[in-house]
Amino acid sequence: MSIEERVRAVRARIDAAARAAGRDPGEITLCAATKVQTSDAIRQAIAAGVPVCGENRVQEMTAHLADDAYAGARLHFIGHLQTNKVRQVVGKADLIQSVDSLHLLRAIEGQADKLGIIQDILLEVNIAGEASKGGFPPEEVLSAALQAAALDHVRLRGLMAIPPPVDVPEKNRPFFAAMRQLFVDIRREIDDNVSDIDCLSMGMSDDFEEAVAQGATLVRVGTALFGPRPPRTGTAE
Ligand SMILES: *Cc1c(COP(=O)(O)O)cnc(C)c1O
Repeated sequence: MSIEERVRAVRARIDAAARAAGRDPGEITLCAATKVQTSDAIRQAIAAGVPVCGENRVQEMTAHLADDAYAGARLHFIGHLQTNKVRQVVGKADLIQSVDSLHLLRAIEGQADKLGIIQDILLEVNIAGEASKGGFPPEEVLSAALQAAALDHVRLRGLMAIPPPVDVPEKNRPFFAAMRQLFVDIRREIDDNVSDIDCLSMGMSDDFEEAVAQGATLVRVGTALFGPRPPRTGTAE
């Protein structure tokens, strides 16, 4: 299948999952997880209708930006971001989905202040409590959200999670449901900018339909759009 055919097939599956859950398919954004892809593959996905690209690595993002590979789409950063690389991402990514510590939150606020901009962010939640993953523990999300909402150069847009890989998508249902509840909770608590808190980013190639059923407003899909990735050595994704 071509990338174009895969994009159409994934979009159709998102729409069907939304309708089955009694949701409007228009509420759900498809974000292409573009790690290791070429600029050409990214352009094909955008030409096929992908509205958002999500990048994991600063280096790849910088190279694709220089190539103008994201033209026609919005750009999200979805990987672990080291504070010493914040300068390369703030103001370049429309949304930083993967804010996984207060330290990083403050670094983003500082850089956005310097640039005189407001940076949209999501807080990443370690919803399954995995030792190998970053992100806020669920019980710290509300406090982090209140701190984010109090900053002048950061706009909190919602939450993101990467539950464990599963053989059966239903296994992640409790994690998706817990994310949905956290999302509802922060919207209720932070009522001064509730209209901004509109993004619940969860679901990947193996489980995005389940995530849509549980309330995702954005799914991040790589393999199902681009095919299997070659194994990569070095730093974890
Ligand atoms: C790679 C990646 C995805 C997509 O993974 P697939 O299983 O290939 O769909 C989604 N989110 C993040 C943060 C990723 O790194």
